[in-house]
Amino acid sequence: MTTALASTAAAAHSTGALRHDWTRAEIAALFALPLPELMFRAQAAHRLFFDPTEIQIATLLSIKTGGCPEDCAYCPQSAHHNTGLKASKLMAVEAVLAEARAAKAAGADRFCMGAAWRSPKDRDLDAVCAMIEGVKALGLETCVTLGMLDGAQAQRLKGAGLDYYNHNLDTSPEFYGEIITTRTYQDRLDTLDHVRAAGIHVCCGGIVGMGEGREDRVGLIHTLATLPKHPESVPINLLVQVEGTPLAGKGSLEPFEFVRTIAAARITMPGSWVRLSAGREAMSEELQALCFLAGANSIFYGPKLLTTPNPEAERDAVLLDKLGLTPVGA
Ligand code: SF4
Repeated sequence: MTTALASTAAAAHSTGALRHDWTRAEIAALFALPLPELMFRAQAAHRLFFDPTEIQIATLLSIKTGGCPEDCAYCPQSAHHNTGLKASKLMAVEAVLAEARAAKAAGADRFCMGAAWRSPKDRDLDAVCAMIEGVKALGLETCVTLGMLDGAQAQRLKGAGLDYYNHNLDTSPEFYGEIITTRTYQDRLDTLDHVRAAGIHVCCGGIVGMGEGREDRVGLIHTLATLPKHPESVPINLLVQVEGTPLAGKGSLEPFEFVRTIAAARITMPGSWVRLSAGREAMSEELQALCFLAGANSIFYGPKLLTTPNPEAERDAVLLDKLGLTPVGA
């Protein structure tokens, strides 16, 4: 560990200050720490802002699936890839609200709605705003992910009462072009700016295990941690390889490297919810527990789990119980 890293981390911990001036070298040094030291730092950072025994439960519903014109190499919803996924139209407002009621009954406190668009059309936004108003009225926090937004669209969503907008950076600026060619990293940053300017909280993270190097994981965390304001939610996804996408069969990430990525996010953005997102289904209980110890404090329950017999949600409840973790607000 470098002296500079030790002193800056100590300063941040002693004051509880959030830093926005992380350097790539500092973040690379975090990744390189012996695991016990990294975990200790992550746990210390976690306790500055959160009760480490609490886990936020969010629910994600796809309100418009497939047929997306973007070419994200990991995504089965892209029209560029042949995954056999059936595209569907935007769901009716009432159907979405029925799912939201089920989510609330299952213990969710945030309801996220995702649409596979490059960017929403104005008539689509009318329906999405009605969904946001309806979900808010149920007493749930609202989050949507709709692709790129301009400033006026972000203002409309804010007017409907939107709490969070999800827009992931996916990976480092350098690796981004290997994953997506239909829009730029700057496009993503511009949407984040519009969301911030409208006063909406930001949910923004990335995906690891896409064949990127450690320097790209460092670059992703660095970009997030040096935004003018840290995203309030930082989802860290482990690639789920889907047959028919360009990333199918492209190898996998070493599990401890995933844990290191979570820990680096926690240390550099101690006031943010760090969400263990995609890929969790395939993780062992032990790996998930390590991720919680590294500072992850938010998980998704999938939407289908709420309306059908729900073995996965039950398995999650059992795991949280085994670990002595409780849902936020329970
Ligand atoms: S923009 Fe979203 S839905 Fe469309 S291909 Fe990319 S990740 Fe998939």
